[in-house]
Amino acid sequence: MNPFTLVRLPTLDSAHDHVAAEPAGRLYRAGGIDLLDRMKEGLDAPDELVELHAIAGEHGARMRGIAATEDGGWRIGSLVTLGQLAGFEDLPSAYGALRDAASNAATPSIRNGATAGGNLLQRPRCWYFRHSDLLCLKKGGYECLAVSGDNRFNAILGGGPSFIVHPSSLGSPLVALGASVTVAGAKGLRTMPIEDLFALPTVDPTKEHTLADGEVLVSIELPPALAGQRSAYHFAKEKQSQDWPLAEASVRCTVEAGVMREVRVALGHVAPVPWRSKEAEDALEGVAPSADAFAKAAAAALSVAKPLEGNAYKVPLAQGVLRYALHFATSTPLPA
Ligand SMILES: Cc1cc2nc3c(=O)[nH]c(=O)nc-3n(C[C@H](O)[C@H](O)[C@H](O)COP(=O)(O)OP(=O)(O)OC[C@H]3O[C@@H](n4cnc5c(N)ncnc54)[C@H](O)[C@@H]3O)c2cc1C
Repeated sequence: MNPFTLVRLPTLDSAHDHVAAEPAGRLYRAGGIDLLDRMKEGLDAPDELVELHAIAGEHGARMRGIAATEDGGWRIGSLVTLGQLAGFEDLPSAYGALRDAASNAATPSIRNGATAGGNLLQRPRCWYFRHSDLLCLKKGGYECLAVSGDNRFNAILGGGPSFIVHPSSLGSPLVALGASVTVAGAKGLRTMPIEDLFALPTVDPTKEHTLADGEVLVSIELPPALAGQRSAYHFAKEKQSQDWPLAEASVRCTVEAGVMREVRVALGHVAPVPWRSKEAEDALEGVAPSADAFAKAAAAALSVAKPLEGNAYKVPLAQGVLRYALHFATSTPLPA
């Protein structure tokens, strides 16, 4: 790992201006879990790490807190750890998908350091990208090495020209819950739907997000819960700990007069972005919850999948994970 200087700047503006002036050599450190791995793996060699925990004052407090907002929603600071989020019992059960995802990510010790913002901005796990001797499309090469290589963990939805899967477990619940993010840049703070934070590789295969150089993710906003809102998250992993999921599903809905309304569905670890499935939402809206309806919605969600040679198993796996999430969200008994 290269030697580096740890820089502590007390304001959001000073941190932003410092990193924006030299984005290749200065990187933000939050929990440092992904960042230091990348430095140890030889993927990144910044001269300076700019310590986000040093930001003080009003912005620093916003980045570290979880608070109800005036409109009845919730704000989660980007420096809140996955462990704090998992243990935050005041968050209403309507947002249960988010707490479940935070509780099941990584390991207890990682969750104590990993922050919500760093989780959303961690880099992909594709082994061709992570190998310092290989120059894949994400690192400025001319091809995605997963296409002709071992692609068992790569994307089945939305892939091309790069086939990474987005590594964040918070991504799919936040998309399903209709969250927004607030970022700080040259013109101050701006808020956007979380779906706009993520970008498909067709935009720029070297990036997974839309942040400009030096922009800081400040907080995540959850909209007010709908009357009777339910949500659920489910996942499948090869190992139950120390590992990223193979497929995840998050669901938000209400059940009124026996039918599902306001349905939002997002899948994780199957696409280069947390993948909102309009196909599943259309199949479920206004429909009575049942195992049959969930199977049809899961089939619709994956009908647009284009698996690579080694990852077709992810199609039925993602369908199964989504069906479970729908059972849990609607309290529909699982089939025997
Ligand atoms: C064994 C293992 C298993 C894991 N399993 C899972 C899993 O199941 N699910 C999952 O989601 N993750 C998993 N992880 C990954 C882990 O959760 C992430 O590495 C962690 O969440 C990153 O957060 P951090 O605060 O450490 O980010 P950092 O490493 O500090 O930062 C990550 C990146 O984001 C940038 N950054 C961080 N915060 C900000 C900000 N506020 N504004 C702008 N830029 C910022 C940094 O510059 C850096 O490039 C696992 C990790 C390990 C080692």
